[in-house]
Amino acid sequence: MTAELPTTHAVRRPNLKDYALPALRALFKERGWPAYRGDQVAAWLYKNDVDCLDAMTNLPGDLRAAIDADFDLSSLTVVTTQHSTDGTIKFLLGAFDGTQVEAVLIPEERRVTLCVSTQVGCPLTCSFCATGALGFTRNLTTAEIVDQVLQARRLLEPDQLLSNLVFMGMGEPLLNLPAVSEAIRLFSDPKAFGMAPRRITVSTAGVLPQISPLLEVAPIHLAVSLHATTNEVRDVLVPLNKRFPIEKLLETLRAEPRINRRRPVFFEYTLMAGVNDSVEDARRLPGLLEGIASKVNVIPMNPHPDAPYQPPSRDVVDRFTAVLHNAGVRVTLRRDRGRDIDAACGQLANRAPTPTSGIPALTRTNA
Ligand code: SAH
Repeated sequence: MTAELPTTHAVRRPNLKDYALPALRALFKERGWPAYRGDQVAAWLYKNDVDCLDAMTNLPGDLRAAIDADFDLSSLTVVTTQHSTDGTIKFLLGAFDGTQVEAVLIPEERRVTLCVSTQVGCPLTCSFCATGALGFTRNLTTAEIVDQVLQARRLLEPDQLLSNLVFMGMGEPLLNLPAVSEAIRLFSDPKAFGMAPRRITVSTAGVLPQISPLLEVAPIHLAVSLHATTNEVRDVLVPLNKRFPIEKLLETLRAEPRINRRRPVFFEYTLMAGVNDSVEDARRLPGLLEGIASKVNVIPMNPHPDAPYQPPSRDVVDRFTAVLHNAGVRVTLRRDRGRDIDAACGQLANRAPTPTSGIPALTRTNA
């Protein structure tokens, strides 16, 4: 098991969407273009959803040509979209090198959440996760993370607004921290996407040295994939645990000043029948979380062909959450969204729609 930082794959030319505003202004200045032109370009890209330089009518023609000569503008195109019966939309996006990633749009009554990917595949090989079984290809660039959001916004109904963003798609965000951080700066900058940072959640399997640097970027929420109450079990489910075991993980979170009651950490606990769903587990958990402002998100295992685990029965799930609740733990049961199109947690593996699923895959090319 290794958690070395993989290097970002070079895209042919720098992409305008690889840079948050401070970096974009600096790049423009270096080339002798006024820095405020960077702000104008960002407004076109992120507020007006325009990614054709010719349409950026408040820029002089020669500047548009100069930008065009130096930068790429788009990085991902939509290959297919799949619509779940519950309104969830999973879409497959293709990059310049033929690699593909998935993003999932989850409309709910009071919010619309997009789940974004940060890597093509994942190096962490968690034994219950379909993405882990794919292996690791490369990190996504900032532009590729940002394009997932831009493309998803185009699929929304006119009355829908993308309100929440979760970094819970393919990959381990903290093994791609530079690109993820720059994307978060763009998402939270009022001059770019202008999202409230508290509506952005980044999930990690526990790459401990990168937690503080992540939380310094913006006041976002942190989610941590815990999934077990003993190292023995967590070593098997999340092999990264051998490098960063439970006690070190919890010590790091306990010492983190940016985690507090206003900004609690969300622990994800995927329940697998006979593996981590016992009453003993439920009784151990509150003690482990002592002193950490937190909520626990219980997710019944979403089964898939690459893992031998199954969700527990409804009774076992209810018993588990009841023990936590009675011990004063703030616990929520995550509703299962998009399971019929393999879009639920841990099911992202670039699987083609199955002919039996009965859900039409709408092909949409992105001109
Ligand atoms: N690598 C990061 C981001 C992935 S987030 C992380 O580990 O946190 C996806 C979440 O879904 C994680 O909590 C992951 O552990 C969980 N998950 C993976 N496979 C799952 C499955 N089959 N059923 C339910 N949850 C799963």
